[in-house]
Amino acid sequence: MSVPIQMVDLKRQYQHIKSEIDRAIAEVLENCTFIQGPSVKAFAEDLAQYLQVKHVIPCANGTDALQIAMMALDLQPGDEVITPSFTYIATAEVIALLKLKPVFVDVDPKTFCITAETVEAAITKRTKAIVPVHLFGQSVDMEPLLQLAHRYHLHVIEDNAQAIGCDYHFADGKKMKTGTMGTIGCTSFFPSKNLGAYGDGGAIFTHDDALAQKMQMIANHGQSKRYYHDLVGCNSRLDSIQAAVLQVKLRYLDQYIAARRQAADLYDSGFNDIPEITTPYRAPYCGHVFHQYTILVPPKQRESLQQYLFAQGIPTMIYYPVPCHQQKMFNSLPYVAHSLKTTEWLSQHVLSLPMHTELDLEQQNFIIEHVRRFFGK
Ligand SMILES: *Cc1c(COP(=O)(O)O)cnc(C)c1O
Repeated sequence: MSVPIQMVDLKRQYQHIKSEIDRAIAEVLENCTFIQGPSVKAFAEDLAQYLQVKHVIPCANGTDALQIAMMALDLQPGDEVITPSFTYIATAEVIALLKLKPVFVDVDPKTFCITAETVEAAITKRTKAIVPVHLFGQSVDMEPLLQLAHRYHLHVIEDNAQAIGCDYHFADGKKMKTGTMGTIGCTSFFPSKNLGAYGDGGAIFTHDDALAQKMQMIANHGQSKRYYHDLVGCNSRLDSIQAAVLQVKLRYLDQYIAARRQAADLYDSGFNDIPEITTPYRAPYCGHVFHQYTILVPPKQRESLQQYLFAQGIPTMIYYPVPCHQQKMFNSLPYVAHSLKTTEWLSQHVLSLPMHTELDLEQQNFIIEHVRRFFGK
């Protein structure tokens, strides 16, 4: 193997764009505009253009983005927020942090995402918002979910940390990017995300002018003008160096998505005659951006497959081994409205293979060959 296989290879990605990145960082250093520098505004404008959304508010990380979004909606303690349990913990943690009540609903076994049906069954008089998570790079089926939210007057906060760049197709042919369809969209620029910074970062999206202004204030100590604080907020800013890096990387995002899709296609064809493996479902209503390439394997073989691959120098990961509702932080809280059978089943079966923008043919053929060999092919 020319280069060791990693889950995400940020080093080789950096080497390909090094001169542009280094120049962008050097510019911030020379100007010493570390906080709220011109790169932050420039990146926000570029991203708004890319996503076709009216407002992009950069902030410190994806978890803060979710928190600021929920703070801006004036939710009251005890209000119910419907969300999947099969997600990264940040989604549910922020709900609980704000003294709201996370109500976990089950996901679809094919898309791994919540659906209008699973959500509707959990709606009560106290339900105020839905937080769909576009898991592993694939959009939630948003059209029926948005119709449901409209019918029940619920806010929709999209957790788009894993699916930036994904197009959702409406029945009338209209396309929209994930994160721009709900009341508010949130994303993360954690380094391993599809649009990753070289440190922490996040952003919030909305088409609503008043909400945008409020969230901008909340992210900056509730400040309306310097030293005048109208709201209780927080300190959550994207720093200028990260914005400069992201502005460069945004120009490569579509290329990166294409590389991920190509890698996914190759995995799919390498595994299609292995009955033990279910390859990722591709929903017809969106374009999967493959933040993860996650297969399903029988639980009794999962650990031995992982160990076998690890011995060959092939890393794998389980996203997520423990669903949110089974995490200790939620021990004392009866947050489960209905059965989470699919969620629990998935946590036993999922296995994510290396997926990034730098996987080369040699590496992928090596991975495929060893997976095949494990299953006696
Ligand atoms: C990464 C992630 C977050 C949190 O983002 P941070 O920038 O790490 O705070 C939230 N939700 C999901 C689904 C994520 O994958």
